[in-house]
Amino acid sequence: GGFAELGLSDALMRAVEDSGYTVPTPIQKGAIPSVLMGRDIIGVAQTGTGKTASFVLPMIDILAEGRSRALMPRSLILEPTRELAQQVSENFDKYGKYHKLSMALLIGGVSMGDQLAALEKGVDVLIATPGRLMDLFGRGKIMLNQCGLLVIDEADRMLDMGFIPDIETICTKLPAVRQTLLFSATMPPPIKKLADRFMTDPRMIEV
Ligand code: AMP
Repeated sequence: GGFAELGLSDALMRAVEDSGYTVPTPIQKGAIPSVLMGRDIIGVAQTGTGKTASFVLPMIDILAEGRSRALMPRSLILEPTRELAQQVSENFDKYGKYHKLSMALLIGGVSMGDQLAALEKGVDVLIATPGRLMDLFGRGKIMLNQCGLLVIDEADRMLDMGFIPDIETICTKLPAVRQTLLFSATMPPPIKKLADRFMTDPRMIEV
């Protein structure tokens, strides 16, 4: 039951080895092969289960091919808080060290100048909190029509913080044909509804 069975690239396997992990956690075992196959997944998993790597690792391999264009990110990760967004970006740096992916962090409390400069250069991975993303989208500084891979992380916390209407709006701006990964510690009815509306035949992985 090692990482080698999950279908990740050699470059990614090296980054995983460098980080000292030898055994994938249950959410990683359940999620990574499905994400690599292009499926939508719902990961019912809490923080501490290794869920971040369960989407960051396959995303790096999916995004490794292809070019990003100015103002048009190819993937989007939504996080409820700045701190979580920052942690996910650190995971991308760690696991993506043998890849050349560009990343932008769109969070509040940081000057928009650097964020806009990153968007102008073209971004493979956009990691954002819903408020700042909606702000930039409203100003026409970002286009989401090339964003074929969406992660909604900590969906239950998004619900608690009142972000579900923003997430629904964001989902309608993305291409209809896309891959969507949703993670939540619990699945209350509004999250089930969100998944029903915006996901395609998601595989449920509970750990
Ligand atoms: P997360 O649930 O994504 O917040 O991850 C919890 C912690 O587990 C983080 O500190 C990770 O660095 C660590 N971690 C993730 N995957 C593994 C693994 N396969 N083996 C050991 N530790 C891991």
